[in-house]
Amino acid sequence: MLTVKDLRDVYGKRVYVRVDFNVPQKNGVIRDNNRIKAALPTIEDLVGKGAKVILMSHLGKIKWKEPDLAKIEAMKKANDMAPVADELQRLLPNVKVRFCPATRGEVLATAVAALQPGEVLLAQNTRYEKGEEKNDPELAKEWASLADAFVMDAFGSAHRAHASTVGVPTILKAEGKPVAEGYLMIKEVDNLTRCCDVKIKDRPYIAILGGFKVSDKIKVIDALLKKCDKILIGGAMAYTFKKALGMKTGNSPVEDEQIGYAKKCLEEAGGRILLPIDSVVTNSFEPVEGRLIKTVEGDIPDGFQGVDIGPKTEALYKEAILQAHMLFWNGPMGVFEQSEFQSGTKAICEAVRALKGKAFTVCGGGDSAAAVKQFGYKADFSHVSTGGGASLEMIENNGSLPGVDVLR
Ligand code: AMP
Repeated sequence: MLTVKDLRDVYGKRVYVRVDFNVPQKNGVIRDNNRIKAALPTIEDLVGKGAKVILMSHLGKIKWKEPDLAKIEAMKKANDMAPVADELQRLLPNVKVRFCPATRGEVLATAVAALQPGEVLLAQNTRYEKGEEKNDPELAKEWASLADAFVMDAFGSAHRAHASTVGVPTILKAEGKPVAEGYLMIKEVDNLTRCCDVKIKDRPYIAILGGFKVSDKIKVIDALLKKCDKILIGGAMAYTFKKALGMKTGNSPVEDEQIGYAKKCLEEAGGRILLPIDSVVTNSFEPVEGRLIKTVEGDIPDGFQGVDIGPKTEALYKEAILQAHMLFWNGPMGVFEQSEFQSGTKAICEAVRALKGKAFTVCGGGDSAAAVKQFGYKADFSHVSTGGGASLEMIENNGSLPGVDVLR
């Protein structure tokens, strides 16, 4: 696979870079610019070599099935890329950053033609185009016609075969033009490939899975069961497994249609799946009068729902984690957004901190990565992924992703 480092002769060439600038924002105010910062090494490298850098990214969602056109326009307005261009300019004060309000057509072609070596052009949100998510060949052809080379640096979008992620490099590759991975992609792909390709020295390999739904994680559980020595389960999804064992789960969120699957996993795992032995439960999510929060072992009483793993489970999971030589974690252990229910997720972070320097530890993006950052444990992990969906799919597909495979 070529990397951006290998693209040496790009002075004055148009390099199309797919970045992930899908930042949390509202009314033009960006709440977290980490995704923009993560793409800077690739952008700076190309700018330093005098390339004409064309940046493309999606931002938010446009629901094209919506019949009311005014609502579609409102969704577009809410996901305008212009504030992201302003933020990028702020982060790159010595580089000329231009913004193109169009995603295709004359306006975009003219903006690209006006670009000078070492300048950057950020185009409007790729999802303004209905054909983006369908990998429309005409759209991909038009975008590819604007570029002499392609760099993929949007790991968070690499599991999606869209026009901007897969369509464009497929065409450029067929034309004999270079397609390469950017610095963020190199880091992500290297670290997640390591989680797929387990060596003897990596054992015990421990996976920790949490979050809301079993159904979202079926494929990753299947893949991890083939690779891991132990899988520790927490979060709401643990209650579907507990119900599969015949335990009472009170008002906890349970996916009844996944109970059969949970039973199958438990059988196949032969004791390698660990479930919470105690839970923090509450009779209300809201801090209303009469709210009760307590820890229970075993069954969860009616009227209560499990919201975090309990202290005995924390100790059990810590003990297992401390044995690990490799660790992959996706999904919080409880409703970590509320301070009363953060303890389990923090306990996992603490255990990983204790492993620092002794094991290879990866947090696979999404809400668990948000928790790791929020609680101040990012530096304790070997790698914290920027892509929740992409890192899970990479594990599920044994190291393969559409946006990565196309570069190979
Ligand atoms: P996911 O996107 O599947 O990783 O799920 C993350 C979400 O699961 C977070 O918003 C958590 O608040 C939520 N969550 C974790 N544990 C529980 C639980 N016991 N009950 C309800 N929600 C939970």
